[in-house]
Amino acid sequence: MSIEVRNINKRFGDFVALDDVSLNFPQGELTALLGPSGCGKTTLLRIIAGLEQPDAGQVFLDGEDASAHHVRERQVGFVFQHYALFKHMSVFENIAFGLRVKPRNVRPSESEIRKKVMQLLELVQLDWLADRYPPQLSGGQRQRIALARALAVEPRVLLLDEPFGALDAKVRKELRRWLRRLHDELHVTSIFVTHDQEEALEVADQIVLMNKGKVEQIGAPNDVYNHPASPFVYGFLGNVNLFHGRVHEGVLEAGGVTFDAPDHATAQDAKGVGFVRPHDIEIDRYTADAEGIVVKLRRAHAIGPLAQLELERVDNAQLIEAVISTERYSHLALKDGETLVVRPKRLHVFVDEAV
Ligand code: ATP
Repeated sequence: MSIEVRNINKRFGDFVALDDVSLNFPQGELTALLGPSGCGKTTLLRIIAGLEQPDAGQVFLDGEDASAHHVRERQVGFVFQHYALFKHMSVFENIAFGLRVKPRNVRPSESEIRKKVMQLLELVQLDWLADRYPPQLSGGQRQRIALARALAVEPRVLLLDEPFGALDAKVRKELRRWLRRLHDELHVTSIFVTHDQEEALEVADQIVLMNKGKVEQIGAPNDVYNHPASPFVYGFLGNVNLFHGRVHEGVLEAGGVTFDAPDHATAQDAKGVGFVRPHDIEIDRYTADAEGIVVKLRRAHAIGPLAQLELERVDNAQLIEAVISTERYSHLALKDGETLVVRPKRLHVFVDEAV
């Protein structure tokens, strides 16, 4: 089922939680609603579900205006951060619950319920836990059961609000990959809320980046990562070094150092900021004729294939973060306090008022 929200506005008292939000969620896709805490992600999810009414705007499900439809008529499945499983019911009964409370004329028979629950338990790969109770499960297992329970009623849409937020980093990573595989199998139109950019970039077909109740950018993960529409998006999607200066004829001049900024070849002389990701910074030993920014190495640590360097600009003490391969790091045999030269391999310049 496709979902469209049109001109959604929502206030809580004077506070504008959603400011004229219009979006499409294509049929069968997994969309991540991404943004900082308080930007309106959960509110939008609740409005799509019918748990919250917007002050203005409409929700369309498969092209039909569902704004006046009750939550039950919308046929959505939910999974929340704090797995709301019934503690006094076995795993089996938790999953069966949605089927047992269906109106008598559409309620499946006991044997159909059993079959369906066991299928779902196999789908989430936890069939061996059918007789356990929620307190006897790990957090990750509870979330998978919560998902199986949401899927039991064959929702047309799956809404997940920080489904893995309460779990530790390793389990979280495993579960998001698992969610992606499950989604590829089922193709239920799904929206999941997260404030973790790595999670959104890895799992989603489409990312909606929100900030202060508005949509900043929407697109495929590669698109938003490589072509950020605003400084906010760039900063939100990963660590970044900023070089403030002036842009003129394809060059950013920042503190006596110039950088090529070919995207802005036609820009008039204007204030600009170069955004550079840590892994787009190139490093060399200092020599008198080396081109680039002169820095001192404050600290470095290499874990696995990557080395993270904390550098300080000699002219203005600005801190610069760089990530290079451990191989290169070992080859350079760097020591703390050493003088180096850095150059951005790739920078993205935002001009003037955008910054
Ligand atoms: P988080 O990642 O922290 O969950 P979010 O992006 O999901 O944040 P929302 O939960 O949608 O944000 O909340 C958006 C804003 O609206 C927040 O500032 C929140 O305090 C406010 N808000 C949400 N629900 C209510 C409510 N029922 N009454 C008053 N304010 C509310």
